[in-house]
Amino acid sequence: MGDDHANSRAPVGAGETPGRVRVLLPLPLAEAYDYSVPNGLRLAPGDYVQVPLGNRELTGVVWGPATGRVAADRLKPVIARHDAPPLPEVGRSFVDWVAAYVMSPPGAVLKMTLSAPAALEPPRPVLAYRRGTVDIADARLTPARRRVLEVLGDGPPRLPVELAREAGCGTGVLKGMAEIGLIEAVALPARPSGLRRPDGSGTRVELSPDQAAAARTLREQVQGGGFGVTLLDGVTGSGKTEVYFEAIAEALEAGRQVLVLLPEIALSAQWLRRFEARFGVPPVEWHSDLTSAQRRSTWRAVAEGEARVVVGARSALFLPYPELGLIVVDEEHEQAFKQEEGVIYHARDMAVVRARLGEIPIVLVSATPSLESSVNADQGRYRRIHLPGRHGSAVLPAIECIDLRLDRPERQRFLSPTLKLAIAETVAAGEQAMLFLNRRGYAPLTLCGYCGHRLECPNCTAWLVEHRLAGRLQCHHCGYSTELPARCPACETEGSFRACGPGVERIAEEVAESFPGLRAIVMASDLIHGPIQAAELVRQIESHEVDLVIGTQLVAKGYHFPLLTLVGVVDADLGLAGGDLRATERTYQLLHQVAGRAGRAERPGRVLLQTYMPEHPVLQALVEGDRDGFLAREVDARALRGMPPFGRLVALVVSGPDAGLVDRVAANLGRTAPRADGVEVLGPAPAPLAVLRGRHRRRLLLKAGRGVRVQPVVADWLSRVSVPGSVRVTVDVDPYSFL
Ligand code: ADP
Ligand code: ZN
Repeated sequence: MGDDHANSRAPVGAGETPGRVRVLLPLPLAEAYDYSVPNGLRLAPGDYVQVPLGNRELTGVVWGPATGRVAADRLKPVIARHDAPPLPEVGRSFVDWVAAYVMSPPGAVLKMTLSAPAALEPPRPVLAYRRGTVDIADARLTPARRRVLEVLGDGPPRLPVELAREAGCGTGVLKGMAEIGLIEAVALPARPSGLRRPDGSGTRVELSPDQAAAARTLREQVQGGGFGVTLLDGVTGSGKTEVYFEAIAEALEAGRQVLVLLPEIALSAQWLRRFEARFGVPPVEWHSDLTSAQRRSTWRAVAEGEARVVVGARSALFLPYPELGLIVVDEEHEQAFKQEEGVIYHARDMAVVRARLGEIPIVLVSATPSLESSVNADQGRYRRIHLPGRHGSAVLPAIECIDLRLDRPERQRFLSPTLKLAIAETVAAGEQAMLFLNRRGYAPLTLCGYCGHRLECPNCTAWLVEHRLAGRLQCHHCGYSTELPARCPACETEGSFRACGPGVERIAEEVAESFPGLRAIVMASDLIHGPIQAAELVRQIESHEVDLVIGTQLVAKGYHFPLLTLVGVVDADLGLAGGDLRATERTYQLLHQVAGRAGRAERPGRVLLQTYMPEHPVLQALVEGDRDGFLAREVDARALRGMPPFGRLVALVVSGPDAGLVDRVAANLGRTAPRADGVEVLGPAPAPLAVLRGRHRRRLLLKAGRGVRVQPVVADWLSRVSVPGSVRVTVDVDPYSFL
């Protein structure tokens, strides 16, 4: 492996423990391990190295000087250093910081950075052919072979596929020719990623005075550099995207990389197109739908600074940027930024940390900022930029409640007469409508009409959801799926099942009955397989091949459909039932976001919320357009109860297959709960999802004052309770899910 990144590297551990380094491995180990450095190998912090572990070989990162705790003769040597730009210091301190904050082993966090280890292998040379040294009289050549030689001439080596295509033969012909020396294989160095760099060459809109002022502030922030958080707060359609594009342009001009976090990157076709229109090339994408080859080349392009703008979901935050100069978190209030499995972290919060460590600006963007960000702005920790109105002639939609107690749908139907009339009027006017229901499938509950037996998941405390299009019952928690049984498992009555309540598929059925000939589509995550299909549906809506869109929260996000003027929310009460800490905030944000899909162009929009409790403060705030009043009341309520962001929460979930063991560990945790000042522990109590994937679950919640450093308190607590191997205690710092 070469040494071309060696110039600026100070060797590790000068004067400390020579010949040794500490290497962090991408595994959930408690700490980094020492390795000896073979003679002749120079290593610096951040270098990617190949090391032995047991009888395996792994890629790790040189983390610093060795601890020196292991005897020299027991140390294993580093095998080799990979030829790649080292993980910059800020990337390493970020891994350490996140690990300490979320209470995960640093190696588990490093694994998110080392997310494409194959990218570290030397790029494979490319095979090409040129004319060989053997000459055979033309007459003895087959026509195909003659054409190959003609195409090659005395020119440079050609790639096999191109050569075969031009010569009109198969690549087998080339192999045969190479064997007898008519042509000769040569290895060309791998081609560079070939990524074109985004520039400001695309079309720019003429910013309104408000937008221009906002853009100027952001540009200044980027120019000045240094850490700073800006909350870009403006109603949907006010041009927030156009404004932060200006900040991106500024960072690119300054030669810095940019990261944009979007909650649902796989479904962001419109955003990608807008980016390309503005910057001349598409951004580099990072999400779970990439092939392994794409991951490899993208990771490498980021590490080498070839990728200038990366747009991605949570995990893009951990890529090894050498020159990151700006982070944008769009829809910053979205709960999708919270990763709930593996390393449990909030990507928005960690993005702020990454910006602080890198001393760069970060922009949080939302029409309905999270309460946390809002309070930070009010208290002066974040700068707030406000975009007051919709761009151009577009006005905010009128929002009204439909009181389902008075305006009743027919039996076993879910659309009220008023909503149906509005749909008919909208479509008759040549416009489009959207029905929003945040529930996949046909019906959330299926029960036996004879004995009342409910079909439940065998692995979870959850009902099975009927998906009629797929002909299955599914558990939305563990993925369990089965056919609808012919007879009730409890009373054995045949054909007695009844669907209770609506999912989007059932709404689609009602629409088809009520509006024959209406062109309706359903958009839900289980019905859309990948970004290409999503983009196709978006195209159909944009080109008015569709009159009505029925969708889950998938459709709430960021789309801009000029002809869409009516949004009907089938069940506005849905999110309010659970009553957890963030239920009202989340419902407000979601409904506001959905409402924001209506009337985004010249035609004004209308939003109808079907509800049984029109007097509920969340719905009142939506109808009155009183976002700030709503937020203020919510802030007061949280402050009064010492809830985040005025206090801190850490959730512990104890889980395991044996309910008795789980209870014992949970009870021990309850007994040993910390009793420090300003710290309070609630529970243990059975989790709302008391069984998940066959594991019994108990919850404890630690609540502490804002000034308390909770991590040492929790670490000390956990160290005093012994946990058998089959039981797991999951720590969730700043929990968002209370299931
Ligand atoms: P937001 O991100 O706040 O929802 P967008 O940036 O998506 O708003 O803007 C909404 C729509 O209005 C987009 O189609 C955008 O291109 C258009 N738009 C916003 N500002 C302008 C402007 N100054 N000139 C022309 N079109 C604009
Ligand atoms: Zn299940």
